[in-house]
Amino acid sequence: MAGKLFWDEPYRDAIDTVITAVDGDALTLKETIFYAFSGGQESDQGSIAGLPVLEAELGDGGPWYRMPSNHGLYAGDAVRVAIDWERRYRLMRLHSAAEIVLQLVYRALPGVRRIGAHIAADKARLDFSWPQSLGPLLESLSHELECFVEADLAIESGYSDEAAERRYWRVPGLESVPCCGTHPRRTSEIGALRLKRDNRGRGQERIELYLEDPYRHG
Ligand SMILES: [Zn+2]
Repeated sequence: MAGKLFWDEPYRDAIDTVITAVDGDALTLKETIFYAFSGGQESDQGSIAGLPVLEAELGDGGPWYRMPSNHGLYAGDAVRVAIDWERRYRLMRLHSAAEIVLQLVYRALPGVRRIGAHIAADKARLDFSWPQSLGPLLESLSHELECFVEADLAIESGYSDEAAERRYWRVPGLESVPCCGTHPRRTSEIGALRLKRDNRGRGQERIELYLEDPYRHG
């Protein structure tokens, strides 16, 4: 199992490490900053030893990274791993924003059921089973989210069970959330967002979140 540095060091965009196993096109690393799709958060994009990673997925001893077929890499090779930081940062910001909105929806509509979630670099979406339109809720949700962002609160994340790699994150004023994604350190980094409501038919309501402008870290 690779050391998953993206959790405790979510701002690292490059590391030098070693390949631990190669299986055809796929390989594993001793440590990694390269997130593999889970918890609804899309995989990072980037390179290993200067070659593009085609796909990242969790698996035994993983994450596994699928490389171009003539990669010429071997177990034991020292390699540089780099991720597309701009993309990752958007994913982190949208992930935190989506989970704050999710909790605000739970709070506003007791009994509502979340039936899906997806965090991409351009937008995040939350799907709910609910018989009425969530449209009338949007304005207050936007406002409450904005308050969290403006309050510049510390986002805490850590292990709830390190051996099982179970993680949580928490922001003051909301419940602690079980989550294996990556998050920024402060709510102010989320920046300005726009919420949009969509109806998927058959009592399925969707909320989409869009980042309004790129926030520059540091
Ligand atoms: Zn999450």
